[in-house]
Amino acid sequence: MTDENTESPETRTNSNFLRDQMAEDVRTKKYGTAHVQTRFPPEPNGYLHIGHAKAICLDFGLADEFGGKTNLRFDDTNPEKEEQEYVDSIQEDVRWLGFEWDRLCYASDYFGQLYEWAIQLIQAGKAYVDDLSAEEIRAHRGTLTEPGKDSPYRNRTVEENLDLFTRMKTGEFPDGSRVLRAKIDMGSPNVNMRDPVMYRILHATHHRTGDEWCIYPMYDYAHGQSDSIEHVTHSMCTLEFTDHQPLYRWFIEQLGIFPSQQIEFDRLNLTYTMLSKRKLLQLVQERHVSGWDDPRMPTLGGLRRRGFSPEALRTFCAAIGATRTNGTTDIEMLEHFQRDDLNRRARRAMAVLRPLKLVIDNYPDGQVEQFEVANNPEDETAGMRQVPFTREIYIEQDDFREVPPPKYYRLSPGKEVRLRGAYFVTAQSVVKDAEGNVVEVHCKYDPESRGGGTPDGRKVKSTMHWVSAAHAVPAEIRLYDRLFTKADPGDTAEGESFLSNLNPNSLEVLTGAKLEPSLASAKLEDRFQFERVGYFCLDGESTADKLVFNRTVPLRDSWAKIEKKSGA
Ligand code: ATP
Ligand code: MG
Repeated sequence: MTDENTESPETRTNSNFLRDQMAEDVRTKKYGTAHVQTRFPPEPNGYLHIGHAKAICLDFGLADEFGGKTNLRFDDTNPEKEEQEYVDSIQEDVRWLGFEWDRLCYASDYFGQLYEWAIQLIQAGKAYVDDLSAEEIRAHRGTLTEPGKDSPYRNRTVEENLDLFTRMKTGEFPDGSRVLRAKIDMGSPNVNMRDPVMYRILHATHHRTGDEWCIYPMYDYAHGQSDSIEHVTHSMCTLEFTDHQPLYRWFIEQLGIFPSQQIEFDRLNLTYTMLSKRKLLQLVQERHVSGWDDPRMPTLGGLRRRGFSPEALRTFCAAIGATRTNGTTDIEMLEHFQRDDLNRRARRAMAVLRPLKLVIDNYPDGQVEQFEVANNPEDETAGMRQVPFTREIYIEQDDFREVPPPKYYRLSPGKEVRLRGAYFVTAQSVVKDAEGNVVEVHCKYDPESRGGGTPDGRKVKSTMHWVSAAHAVPAEIRLYDRLFTKADPGDTAEGESFLSNLNPNSLEVLTGAKLEPSLASAKLEDRFQFERVGYFCLDGESTADKLVFNRTVPLRDSWAKIEKKSGA
């Protein structure tokens, strides 16, 4: 990013093949008009994660670029795993990410239409009721190298199929006793075309249709037609659905309905991150994390609570673009975009995470000076604030060594350092506890160095942050690290699950932190750079009596280093 570039990084989306395809279809008026309709089709069986953010940015972002529309459609065909809680959280997360849908749709709204179409296919001799068990159907299915075998029920008459399917719907048969299958080709090289199941019997209550139905359409029977009903022009989804596309087309062609075009793109995989709703649910249910919004979770709720911003997530999604091959993205890249965003926008503040008392012996007892410091050196409009200075202050334990190791430029006996925006101080003596730990450092200050420089222009090698002891606001600080120790959390020894790669040190809680007083009025949406420490935000568990801050990302930019190393 250069200064000359006036375009915001958000709008400067990378080129990708989906956009190219869309531009071509708009130019040739593929559907007779230049109109673009997309949809984001989550199954409401879990919370959205950063992988979904990529899909959302493509579905909404590309439609936007072409003046098109995007529906939010819940693919709610599986009553056993779906809940209203998920429906609500998904809407909240899509909006938080910065998008608004044109229409809110549910596959369950189409149950009636899908049923009529099933009847139509039966009447055309293209679907049949099969009495084989799920296990027998699997056994008949064949393999990638062997064709499947016809079911003995495949050649039932239309009348018999209509009768049985109607009775399936009225609830006469128990779960799993029969299914409706498409009659396509058991010898097809594509296993998805080997008479796939369209309907199963399930006496289950649906979160929207209640007990109205006891047969439910399979995802593969519902998805393509739902697109068609909504006149979706570009049905974007991840690559694992590529082999299902011929089936979706088959249904659409048999029924003669709107020919939505599916286009597949690569799934987002991130190092040190698990992006599967099933596994994320397991982490929540087995209490490896505190909930779906645990700040270590890659869910949008977790990222939000951790302090990630929708702007940074959108910039990240634009930067990764979309391709036709699956790969893995470095988590450092996501952190880099968040850090970049925070560097520009986050207010600076001083916070001492592990305090050590520093007493300035020659500073007048009881005196309070207010120092004016910039809220954000990257943004003049952020203004200034006052920070109180007194005789006793806190510094980080790490910023003092009684016996300094080589190249240690921070405070040690006889060394002079700058206290950010205040004075130069020189350490003189220490006070130790019974175990010999340094509990207090005594120093002298140079009154001439007010504001951080001296008339003689002498240099110090270190500038340290500090907080006035009398004014310090106590806080709990939660330091998060990666949830997994391995870049590929699924890389496990035999017999082990991904849980064996959980990082036991992914959360460190510091209870004795001391903050500058201005942080007492922090609000939930505020984001801060604690100088020299990292980026932080207030946690929702904070109360007036007890402030809790989450670390979003540390300061160090390991991604920038990686980029440099690879010569990018
Ligand atoms: P998971 O595997 O995490 O359970 P899913 O694919 O079953 O995810 P859906 O609710 O079906 O979740 O996903 C809604 C949309 O989001 C789909 O179009 C899907 O292709 C897309 N999507 C899901 N995961 C990713 C990902 N990691 N990267 C990009 N898109 C994704
Ligand atoms: Mg799915």
